[in-house]
Amino acid sequence: MNKKKSNAEWQSLLPPEVYRICFEKGTEPAFSGAYWRQKEKGEYLCAACDTALFSSAQKYDSGSGWPSFWQAMQTELIAEAPDNSLAARRTEILCAACGAHLGHRFDDGPPPTGTRFCVNSLSLKFQPAEPSSKQGKN
Ligand code: FE
Repeated sequence: MNKKKSNAEWQSLLPPEVYRICFEKGTEPAFSGAYWRQKEKGEYLCAACDTALFSSAQKYDSGSGWPSFWQAMQTELIAEAPDNSLAARRTEILCAACGAHLGHRFDDGPPPTGTRFCVNSLSLKFQPAEPSSKQGKN
């Protein structure tokens, strides 16, 4: 689904710190975000457009200080772009629906994928899983 908007529109909708990360390709300081050590079950939505991108089931502690996942909920949810802004070439990852900058993808992740999606907490919005008692009402 296409949820793209102009930068001016995003700037009017999002808190300044979220806008800076998502649409000015900022990076929050390591170990500063809300989610790097979060272990609760749930889904991580795009902070801009609310698309569910990552699940706690694929989250792991990379030691980097940023929330890290070895897989996205679906491959097509994540767009990629080359990032040559540092000496090391990196692969930028973006929300495919709205274009928000999420972070970077690296090839030093754990099995089974060997992939590390390194994401800013500020690019995400955590949605806790429904307690199982709510699911089957009998
Ligand atoms: Fe998005």
